[in-house]
Amino acid sequence: MKIICIGRNFADHAKEMNAETPSQPMFFMKPDIALLRPGTPFFYPNFSNDIHYECELVVKIDRVGKNIAEKFAHKYYSEIGLGIDFTARDLQQQCKEKGHPWEIAKSFEGSAAICAQFIDKSDLDLDNITFSLRKNDEIVQEGNSNDMIFTIDQLISYVSQFMTLKKGDLIYTGTPKGVGSIQIGDVLTGSIGEQQMFEVKVK
Ligand code: MG
Repeated sequence: MKIICIGRNFADHAKEMNAETPSQPMFFMKPDIALLRPGTPFFYPNFSNDIHYECELVVKIDRVGKNIAEKFAHKYYSEIGLGIDFTARDLQQQCKEKGHPWEIAKSFEGSAAICAQFIDKSDLDLDNITFSLRKNDEIVQEGNSNDMIFTIDQLISYVSQFMTLKKGDLIYTGTPKGVGSIQIGDVLTGSIGEQQMFEVKVK
């Protein structure tokens, strides 16, 4: 399976990163071993001193498709979940400065936290999905799918021009503002609406 991550899909996050708002989606990938199994702790890696959380809605692809038209994209997923795109911000900054690829900053083992259960999309208003991330006792990120620059259907259509999407592939749809550092001992709790989707302990 593939893990596809969309970058800069919320204008307020692009702004906090001093990045331009994209005119086309941008994406990168994580390998399957990046997936952090639900219930498993995130072990702070020794190659970074500045790991950030990025809480994101996640679309699970459930049908094979290539060159999917936006108007048919809704047929290729039926469930939405929540995850964290863990990022070694210090390494990412070095990569950006050198013009290098982002893999060491984004695609390391355990860097894609995911919920155990997804929500059937028929139980959600796709244009108004609220989600949030709590770090210990503080809400650090709040997002709404309505603020996404590119909709889920637009993202599926765009990505499928470049690669066939397969059943089980995950698309992390981008993070809203409020990204920040984690420390060993932190507990990260993600919710869609009022429903808690995951809890990740940092060890
Ligand atoms: Mg991200």
